[in-house]
Amino acid sequence: MSMSKIEQQGRREFLKKAAIGSAVTIAPGVMLHSLSAEAAPRTEPVTGKVRWGMLVDANKCADGCNDCVAACDKENGLDLVDMPEGADESQWERQRPRWIRQITLKDNLTGRLTHLPMMCQHCEEPPCADVCPTGASFRRADGIVMVDRHICIGCRYCMMACPYKARSFIHAEVAEKLTHTPRGKGCVESCNFCVHRLDNGQTTTACQDACKHQAIVFGDLNDPQSAVSQALKKYPSVAIRDDLKLNPGVRYSNI
Ligand code: SF4
Ligand code: SF4
Repeated sequence: MSMSKIEQQGRREFLKKAAIGSAVTIAPGVMLHSLSAEAAPRTEPVTGKVRWGMLVDANKCADGCNDCVAACDKENGLDLVDMPEGADESQWERQRPRWIRQITLKDNLTGRLTHLPMMCQHCEEPPCADVCPTGASFRRADGIVMVDRHICIGCRYCMMACPYKARSFIHAEVAEKLTHTPRGKGCVESCNFCVHRLDNGQTTTACQDACKHQAIVFGDLNDPQSAVSQALKKYPSVAIRDDLKLNPGVRYSNI
């Protein structure tokens, strides 16, 4: 007997509600946390008509603020992993997986300090993908550079090739993870522009949403009307390590 439309709708609603904010144990010590936002997956294929990109205004990025880092950790479940027992705290802070970091640049001539967030720059010509022996590091048609966790062998060539030191390695078993970010020991990972959001119809990243200083603008670089294109037109900006000609999708102003 086929399911009636109302029954189907009821089942869909149930599945949708069950998927919001729930957590399930899939094996002893391994817990999956599900998406907390209602999702409407995109149905059209990813194409090169869109190029996702970001502009960071270093003047607006406040000294000591870490909100974007905390938001990225939470969004991707990096905060679910505790420091291993007995580990040295400063070593843990240096080595823990991080997809975005706050860095400070110093102008040696003037002494001026500039604070800015640094994450994968989503290079158009990504050296990480060039050196990857398995094809695990790849660039999507819409400009997002990602790691396919199923075929990453953990050789870390990509980490050495990345001029921005944007990638992290997962050294230990990950017991708790989010369904949209299934992390595992022995894999490399990095910022993916919150791809799970984009693929579910959202158009903002977690770091952008968390920045109360509006230092981060995100959007489609190929759309002249997008906020990021408009901001890039209005303010001078630079690509970090422009000399490498990687044409990154992340740009900075006021540095
Ligand atoms: S910033 Fe690094 S990890 Fe990101 S695309 Fe460029 S080389 Fe790859
Ligand atoms: S875009 Fe998403 S994954 Fe990338 S740094 Fe921002 S919050 Fe993290």
